[in-house]
Amino acid sequence: MRKQCAIEKKCGGCQFINKGYEASLEYKNKKMKKLFEEFHVNVHPIEGAKNPYGYRNKTIVAFDHQYHYGLYEESSHRVVPYDTCLLHDEKTDQILKKISQLFRKYRVSIYDPRKSRGDIRHVLIRRAVKTNQTLVTLVSNNKVFNGSKNFCKEMTKAFPDIKSIVLNVNQRKTSIVLGDYEKVLYGKGFIIDELCGLTFKISSKSFYQINHDQCEALYDKTLSLLKNPQKVLDTYCGIGTIGMIASKKAKEVIGVERNRDAIKDANDNKASNHINNIKFICDDATEFMKKQASMKASYDTIIMDPPRTGSTKEFIQAVKILNPKQIVYVSCGPDTQVRDLKEFKKIGYTFTDVYPFDMFPFTEHVETVVRLDKK
Ligand code: SAH
Repeated sequence: MRKQCAIEKKCGGCQFINKGYEASLEYKNKKMKKLFEEFHVNVHPIEGAKNPYGYRNKTIVAFDHQYHYGLYEESSHRVVPYDTCLLHDEKTDQILKKISQLFRKYRVSIYDPRKSRGDIRHVLIRRAVKTNQTLVTLVSNNKVFNGSKNFCKEMTKAFPDIKSIVLNVNQRKTSIVLGDYEKVLYGKGFIIDELCGLTFKISSKSFYQINHDQCEALYDKTLSLLKNPQKVLDTYCGIGTIGMIASKKAKEVIGVERNRDAIKDANDNKASNHINNIKFICDDATEFMKKQASMKASYDTIIMDPPRTGSTKEFIQAVKILNPKQIVYVSCGPDTQVRDLKEFKKIGYTFTDVYPFDMFPFTEHVETVVRLDKK
């Protein structure tokens, strides 16, 4: 059923919401065909979402002084208020409404970014959709949240699925949302979700894929493209999701990731899932690859899932030395993937198929998976 957004595009959150889902998929299909044209390969039709609405399991909003919540208008400090967002998990906006009521009731101080004064800067909601658990993070300019006991009591009474409420303190004068210091006001400070049969811990700072169901589809495809993996290198591994799923099929997996918090989560996830054949290393992926190449390490399989900026020439040069039989390249930035695939071609890797996934329905973004083989 087609739905209409009342504030179309004003919040900058998505581009196609009122155009209809089929039309947005058609647009993305054409875009991908054109992007990969020069390789003369099969660009498969994009894997669309069964339900393209309500998929975002992470939402960050700001409040204005009338306690309306919304996103900041682009390059301004004006909050664009909304009632319900068609992309948010439906519980999210119900929870935000309740928070808004309580903020008003307790006259909570709201931060003014122009004057760098006031308390609450943002509210972050994270939902574990498979386990129906919610984490609420109040981002404040103040280390103290007066009345937190009552606030937590009323919130958890209204929404028993709220398993934790955290105060994140951010006193920086920049637009970065989260600060370093956190105080748990209720619960354990994290929630647990299930993905591809494994459990993952989600805290306010953890990286976690936004669209649960499409992520499972993307990982299933990634895994199905790995042929008899033995020694696997999962580069840009985040909290270890792909590597841990691949560890069921492989002898040994090494995950590499630059973000220290993500590595900590990866190790916790490894322990809680009782996986013994995976190891995580905190390093820059290119630097790590260069070291592995100079040590003449041996891997038959490389998985790579870099950020939108893609990988590097040095990374690909190190792959040439490591000489794995297969590489699966997952990309959230197909433009930079195309750039990198040209480099892989130069070192003797070929591919025949591109699998696009609609991880972020109604937005511009497309995620693609490619399997590369040594010629
Ligand atoms: N594979 C994971 C994460 C993919 S997102 C998943 O599916 O959930 C890309 C990851 O690359 C992020 O976790 C980011 O922190 C990490 N990253 C970005 N640049 C990096 C670099 N130069 N070296 C290592 N990791 C990097």
